[in-house]
Amino acid sequence: MSSAKYIFITGGVTSSLGKGIISASLAKLLQARGYSVTIQKLDPYINVDPGTLNPYEHGECYVTEDGAETDLDLGHYERFLNTPTSQANNITTGRIYQSVIEKERRGDYLGETVQVIPHITDEIKYRIKLLNNDGKFDFIITEIGGTVGDIESLPYIEAVRQMRWEMGSDCLVVHLTLVPYLAAAGELKTKPTQHSVKMLLELGVQPDVLVCRTERHLTETHRNKIALFCNVEPTSVIESIDTDTIYRVPLLMKEENLDTIVLYKMNMPEKQEPDLRVWEEFLYRLKHPTSEVNIGIVGKYAELKDAYKSISESFIHAGSLHQCKVNIQMIHSEYIEASNVSEKLSGFDGILVAPGFGERGIEGKITAVKYARENKVPFLGICLGMQCAVIEFARNVLGFKDAHSTEMNPRTTHPVIDIMEAQKKISCKGGTMRLGTYPCDIAEGSRAFDVYKTKSIFERHRHRYEFNNKFLENFKNAGMIASGINPKDSLVEIMEIPSHPWFIGVQFHPEYHSTVAKSHPLFAEFVKASMENKK
Ligand code: GLN
Repeated sequence: MSSAKYIFITGGVTSSLGKGIISASLAKLLQARGYSVTIQKLDPYINVDPGTLNPYEHGECYVTEDGAETDLDLGHYERFLNTPTSQANNITTGRIYQSVIEKERRGDYLGETVQVIPHITDEIKYRIKLLNNDGKFDFIITEIGGTVGDIESLPYIEAVRQMRWEMGSDCLVVHLTLVPYLAAAGELKTKPTQHSVKMLLELGVQPDVLVCRTERHLTETHRNKIALFCNVEPTSVIESIDTDTIYRVPLLMKEENLDTIVLYKMNMPEKQEPDLRVWEEFLYRLKHPTSEVNIGIVGKYAELKDAYKSISESFIHAGSLHQCKVNIQMIHSEYIEASNVSEKLSGFDGILVAPGFGERGIEGKITAVKYARENKVPFLGICLGMQCAVIEFARNVLGFKDAHSTEMNPRTTHPVIDIMEAQKKISCKGGTMRLGTYPCDIAEGSRAFDVYKTKSIFERHRHRYEFNNKFLENFKNAGMIASGINPKDSLVEIMEIPSHPWFIGVQFHPEYHSTVAKSHPLFAEFVKASMENKK
């Protein structure tokens, strides 16, 4: 199937150490040396995908080009590598068991007792190797979700053990741990790392490289101690110090020689020094802003850092492009009302209304749109945000007082947003939305055309409702136009108000498409309009 090299990233001690960022940073360094690399995430939960999880459980759901609803780490992978991922890049325990059970029912294992070992572990190994089916990758980096010792991740660790046994130096295990600083003792503590490596050893896996997350620098003594107790060379004990931005991590990992150690251990040539010119330029511009702008993000998960991850990262990319410090602030839509909207939103140079589902906070979002429209504040509405812009315009400009989306009010007399025809007969909720990349044609002369500078684009989607084309003429006559339309089924993809300084709503999700190497034009232009508004 493949001659790729397999690198596994496991985590110990605690969650949230940044396995995703370490995986993406190592991948970036290998890519910058001229290797082709992809990253995969194995998630130990039983949901078939995170599409049915709410952001309180799991942060943002990231959508790939091929329409997979995936873990938000895939967003980091794409933003770092500037290459697309796919369904195969995110596997859950639910998906593994689903396919094993389907095979059992089909009779593929006739006569056998179906067991965790070998059937589940075989399926895991198959899914890992499947990524290199067409042989285009030199390295497959597989991040194992969860923390070593969790019951849920045992089959994954066992699959790693088997692959190492079968493939020798074509496999490598990088274990990420925490080296906490105890203020009372005034020192860094290596014991949690020793324990977590012991736990991995009990499962038959000897890590090759340890990446130690820490808030203080490790000394030679720390490294030697960890090396001795964990059976790794001192040079394979890598420090991962807390830093100001995730985008600095690849450079920190380069200083620690993570890439050269990995290459050496896998008998692979170093090729060239990593070409990180674009990356360093990005970081320089990010860290040396010459202006500043305040953007308000209106959503119902305002307290959750990860709920709008791709949106906040897209603003970082756009900020670096303009060498502008983009301060984003989340505003809870549930608490926005006509009486306080100006107090809540007047400090912002631009307003974004976020994607979402369901009734909660919807009226606050609509009130925020009205404020942006009437006060000529640059506005970007994404998915539900675009739908709110349509509802607001229908109510307050067209005078359709009870206009709504049938998602929130099935009995509205003016269903300006309605369920898509193809969605009407769907009752299962998992993986059944309009998902993934679809084409959109842009009207020449529109603001959207100014932004994209092309007539035909492709963007990713995740929705069940759409603009109701019955009302297209009413909107157009009153000053809100559909400037982007799907060429095949006439689904409205972009709405804008030409008489407003900058007012765009998009049915798709541009945030899934912004990377370090290429800031998304909608975010770039929205930030620019907000900078101009500030002046
Ligand atoms: N709830 C809306 C729909 O399903 C919008 C979805 C979204 O914002 N991703 O169409």
